[in-house]
Amino acid sequence: MAHAVMPVSEIADKARHVYEQVFGGNPPEVEVCAPGRVNLIGEHTDYNDGFVLPMALPLVTVVVGSRTSDQVVNILTANEEVEEPRKVDFNLPTDELTLSPGQPKWANYVKGVVQHYRAHPLPGFRAVIASSVPLGGGLSSSASLEVAIYTFLQQLNPDDGDKVAKAVACQQAEHTHAGVPCGIMDQFVSVMGKAGHALLIDCRSLEATPVPLSEPGLVILITNSNVKHSLSGSEYPTRRRQCEEAAAMLRKSSLRDATMADLEEARSQLDDVTYCRARHVIEEIERTARAAEALRRGSYKEFGKLMVESHNSLRDLYEVSCRELDELVSAAMEVDGVFGSRMTGGGFGGCTVTLLQAHATDKAILHIQSLPWDVERDEICMNGFQQTQSVNTEQYSGTPTFYVTTPSEGVRVLKPVMT
Ligand code: ADP
Ligand code: MG
Repeated sequence: MAHAVMPVSEIADKARHVYEQVFGGNPPEVEVCAPGRVNLIGEHTDYNDGFVLPMALPLVTVVVGSRTSDQVVNILTANEEVEEPRKVDFNLPTDELTLSPGQPKWANYVKGVVQHYRAHPLPGFRAVIASSVPLGGGLSSSASLEVAIYTFLQQLNPDDGDKVAKAVACQQAEHTHAGVPCGIMDQFVSVMGKAGHALLIDCRSLEATPVPLSEPGLVILITNSNVKHSLSGSEYPTRRRQCEEAAAMLRKSSLRDATMADLEEARSQLDDVTYCRARHVIEEIERTARAAEALRRGSYKEFGKLMVESHNSLRDLYEVSCRELDELVSAAMEVDGVFGSRMTGGGFGGCTVTLLQAHATDKAILHIQSLPWDVERDEICMNGFQQTQSVNTEQYSGTPTFYVTTPSEGVRVLKPVMT
């Protein structure tokens, strides 16, 4: 059964081909790619200054392009699932001109990164984006796009090369131009990811510790539910606010500094919902630290158990799961050779991540596929580009899609600029 991820070279070929068709002339002088990510454990902890344990994926966003002699950015995305127009141009920012977000929305990610880039002035440029990360699927196509664009700009006019500052600039772009108040995890791992390793990130100190995860008998299976409930946008800021309120009540600068004892002591002053939100965060931060330890020791059983605890807490205390994700996790856990499974990303749809023995992969996929996928859906978020490229396309539309992955490298330059 083939669920291989499309090789980076194929996505780059596609981007180059589109570039040559649209812009003509010479081939693009620069090519870069930045990965999406999956978070193994530590959900909704990043904006609480806690720990997260993501890994970079073999799914990537490629940007190819060249400098121009004017002050204009010409950018096109090859991903057909975004809103029209897919080709956009805008002037570079100056001391007098700040780029502001507008339509189409997808271009705001590019504008935001150009605005927050740390070494102006930039030359004008034209570029094509192509991605194998499903858009809006919870595998962080947005951060991979931001980090790819930033890395592309570094080739045109290098900054000081500070990687943490780069991730922060990309996060700022998402805040100010896409209007998403995201934590630092996605951009951080897309910059810093290491092949064969998960990355334990302390979101308070921004320290990152690679944790080996390269045993050949292990697989990380990602299952995209291909659903995205409309709650996904509105609930995220609400959760953030609830966490800030809980921290303030506990007189802590963030929930990272709170213990369960602190929370129990203040219980009578907190409403039930705020209590549950805070409890998830406090326990999840601790669980993530324990999970990283378990991984270091190669205790995959224990790691898997913590994944399931994390899922249950996200379902019951943080209330960001949904029926489809719960079903995917339960189904995965019924298969021999599966260590653990949980929802990953913001929630209300998107993906689950499952740690399992490689020999159990086909069995797990078949078992999940055999479920009756006829539940009602708010909105089906189709992953157009990936679906037209992967082997088993038709039979999955509206049902789960699978990615068999291993921890991959962070952002890289495929073709550096010639000076
Ligand atoms: P996720 O990051 O989980 O994939 P988000 O909602 O944060 O989901 O980001 C998805 C959005 O990012 C898309 O709707 C689109 O606006 C933008 N985006 C991501 N990748 C691309 C791409 N290759 N081309 C154009 N826009 C993209
Ligand atoms: Mg995102």
